[in-house]
Amino acid sequence: MNLVEPQLQTATRLTHAGRKSKEQAAVVNPPIVRASTMLFPDVAALKNACGTRRAYGRHGNETTLALEQALCAAEGAAACMLTPSGLSAVTTTLLALLQPGDHLLMVDTVYDPTRLFCEGFLRQIGVTTTYYDPLIGRGIADIMQTNTKVVFVESPGSLTFEVQDIPEIAAAAHARGAVVVSDSTWATPIGWDSFDLGIDVSIHAATKYIVGHSDALMGAILTTEALHQRVRKTYAQLGLTIGSDDAALALRGLRTLASRLATHRDSAYAVARWLQDQPEVAEVLYPPLPGSAGHALWRRDFKPEYACGLMGAVFRADITEQQVAALIDRTRLFGIGFSWGGFESLILPTCPASYRSVNADKWTAPMLRLHVGLEAVEDLLDDLEQGFMAMRKNQDLARDRNYLKAVI
Ligand SMILES: *Cc1c(COP(=O)(O)O)cnc(C)c1O
Repeated sequence: MNLVEPQLQTATRLTHAGRKSKEQAAVVNPPIVRASTMLFPDVAALKNACGTRRAYGRHGNETTLALEQALCAAEGAAACMLTPSGLSAVTTTLLALLQPGDHLLMVDTVYDPTRLFCEGFLRQIGVTTTYYDPLIGRGIADIMQTNTKVVFVESPGSLTFEVQDIPEIAAAAHARGAVVVSDSTWATPIGWDSFDLGIDVSIHAATKYIVGHSDALMGAILTTEALHQRVRKTYAQLGLTIGSDDAALALRGLRTLASRLATHRDSAYAVARWLQDQPEVAEVLYPPLPGSAGHALWRRDFKPEYACGLMGAVFRADITEQQVAALIDRTRLFGIGFSWGGFESLILPTCPASYRSVNADKWTAPMLRLHVGLEAVEDLLDDLEQGFMAMRKNQDLARDRNYLKAVI
């Protein structure tokens, strides 16, 4: 593989990993191989290829292998499996590591469709799930059962942004023979040293920052050598694969990941600070921001130069959903939509309480989620200012209506 030595800086590895070396002097990008059937010159060659990844299109081709290699190099993983969506990367991993009768410890702040899979398919095949407080830390040891096989982490959670103590959780899990699976979408492959923190399988919704341009869905499962074959067996049995056109889009996204993230980060800090100054905002949920919840753990476990553009904001309890809607509707640069990690800014009202089993009553005030994109931050702040003004106007109208009702 080309230039993936760990001593090289992240941005350098992202630029060169998965490409041919200088001596091989090929085109810059691998060709987009559109192929199902691979052909062999004779029976001996056919037999040689059987059972290898060169046998048939579903097992990979030059384009998808280049993306796998580049992702492995980016995160320091032994193996990578590419799936048609982030969600299928999660479900495939859980299916590979859990059997009927097993127990799963799932972080309560998990991406909601992951929870639906636990409550649906996993329950149906006899796997039980316990949801735990993301801030449990070493306390996880007390709720491990003899049949707990997987501890699932997602840090920070993508609505309420609690930062988990992954080294403590991993130590407790490993001491009892369980493995640690992480939905690392917020961290991306370059935000932390996932495997050094104790994670065994690191999953990405590549749909987000890796693809980075909101034009393809994809998942990636990155594993240690120890778990590689177990996960690959299930992955292969399920028949999962991705198209080469999407692989090329993800590879293109990966090349600019570090520089895009630097802009997302700088603008996100500015937006987070601005939000903190608004009287209607009770709390900004952005762990990289000094003084915010989870900041100390974030500083310990994430790379100092890393942060992304996703954050939350909690409003004062007297702000109504209607006022938040007025804010959102008034912005012009923030699109209203699910997902994040693309070049564009997004805004969404959130209601985490409806997806929680632990501490649901902590999240009853209206909330926002913001993805800070690559637009000029001055324009984004102006746009938010307009939104907040619309919210205040809405507030005044509500007050006037109440006043009128009171005097009539
Ligand atoms: C979006 C997302 C997923 C799912 O990814 P898809 O590609 O949309 O299936 C999983 N986990 C997290 C944290 C996400 O944000």
